[in-house]
Amino acid sequence: MHDNTALAAAARLADAVVGVFVVDTRWFPATTGCMGPFQASFWLASLTELRQALLALNIPLRIVTTADPAAALVAMARQLGADGITFNKEYEPRQLALDRRLTRLAQDAGVKVRACKDGVIFEEFELLTGSESVYHVFSPYKRAWLAALADNPVQSTGLPRKNAALRCAADAVPAPHALGYGDVKNTLPTGESGAAAMLANFSARPILEYAVQRNFPAVDGSSRLSAHLNAGTISIRQCVMAALHAGAADDRSGSAATWLAELIWREFYRMILFHYPHTAAEAFQRRYVTLAWPARPDRVTAWSRGETGYPIVDAAMRSLIATGWMHNRLRMITAMFLVKDLDVDWRVGENFFRQWLCDYDQASNVGGWQWSAGTGTDAAPYFRVMNPILQGRRFDPHGIFVRRWLPELSQVPVKNIHQPWLMPPSLQKQAGCVIGRDYPAPVVDHGQARLAAIARFKNLPR
Ligand SMILES: Cc1cc2nc3c(=O)[nH]c(=O)nc-3n(C[C@H](O)[C@H](O)[C@H](O)COP(=O)(O)OP(=O)(O)OC[C@H]3O[C@@H](n4cnc5c(N)ncnc54)[C@H](O)[C@@H]3O)c2cc1C
Repeated sequence: MHDNTALAAAARLADAVVGVFVVDTRWFPATTGCMGPFQASFWLASLTELRQALLALNIPLRIVTTADPAAALVAMARQLGADGITFNKEYEPRQLALDRRLTRLAQDAGVKVRACKDGVIFEEFELLTGSESVYHVFSPYKRAWLAALADNPVQSTGLPRKNAALRCAADAVPAPHALGYGDVKNTLPTGESGAAAMLANFSARPILEYAVQRNFPAVDGSSRLSAHLNAGTISIRQCVMAALHAGAADDRSGSAATWLAELIWREFYRMILFHYPHTAAEAFQRRYVTLAWPARPDRVTAWSRGETGYPIVDAAMRSLIATGWMHNRLRMITAMFLVKDLDVDWRVGENFFRQWLCDYDQASNVGGWQWSAGTGTDAAPYFRVMNPILQGRRFDPHGIFVRRWLPELSQVPVKNIHQPWLMPPSLQKQAGCVIGRDYPAPVVDHGQARLAAIARFKNLPR
């Protein structure tokens, strides 16, 4: 509502505006490969708030359920006698195809189309290297991004103008179960009001401690705004302005700049997916395209249920399934563990995250998985394999996060919390955590798995 390029443009250009939300039935049903329950629930709750906020401006929100959004939008434009359709661009392959089809069908029907840049600060070909090619490395991209921002300051569009009268009735927002989803609890505040409160709260203090605190999963050290940025309930411009504002204040740790860099990573991955759409399903680095991945159903099951025997991995996976969100450090640890330690194809993990994350975003998810697998652009090198024991000790030193999600480890001493299998049998009994009975033994030996992973990646032709 407060910073939406397409909505503001439509209100500026037309006497009356009608909002449309398309429930794309190829994306919304609760089946594998589509939107997961936490994300659907988050979106539908946010949509309810949007519907009310639009009504206050006499803008009805129409909701269309269809497998052909482009045709349905054009049909609705004609039915309403609309001059044109205004929309915000997206950069994922599926969305780009939809935007292209919409543009073609609208032009055929004599309906004007206006595509707006909204979800990113710089898009498509706006940021290229000195030799006019696409950036593959983050640091120079970030430098160019910051320089371009200094020359092109951002601002919010503001609320759209009020329609003189309500042109048609608003539709009801479907409940999750009407789309086949079971009940899940939104663990984040939803809607634009939820996002605004979260950004205000984060900007008040945590943003200035972000550089240090963001790495500890037991601490609320990051903004948790990803689901909002993805759904559009907060804009990237609002976040960038908050980062610049905080950075201009006393920010000795450089925390606001670190947070801004994360927002730039988001844009970097969008830019990569836009220019290399095939990398949604294929290794970015060509030499890894031929990597063979054995099917390992037992290992995938252990990982996805949080039963690998490595506490930091298991706690992370159980937190994901229970809340629909996972801390960034834990995403890196669990992703690398699946690919390197368990020798499972990164696309299996990418798909699993898609089904569970409330902030699922194809560009960031593929980017994060390919980074972890070492197959992506500017990715972790193949010989870097995170040690889940050391990661646990470093980022959850007292086991607070692990105990929160693995109650069976609640009595395990701090010394053993990230390696409970090393407890002698008497201590296991005393702690109420007998390995193999109360908590699984490690599914693989990390030391051996690491060497095997390095050999697999190293031996490929360059
Ligand atoms: C394997 C893996 C999968 C991921 N899948 C997703 C996904 O589906 N959706 C998603 O939004 N992010 C994804 N990320 C990136 C990152 O983990 C989340 O954006 C972050 O944890 C969200 O928490 P936050 O909002 O508190 O982030 P903050 O730390 O507060 O960062 C602010 C914002 O910057 C962006 N951001 C932060 N880190 C990254 C990053 N590494 N890459 C891209 N953007 C980033 C997000 O929009 C985030 O909301 C993934 C990372 C990995 C390693």
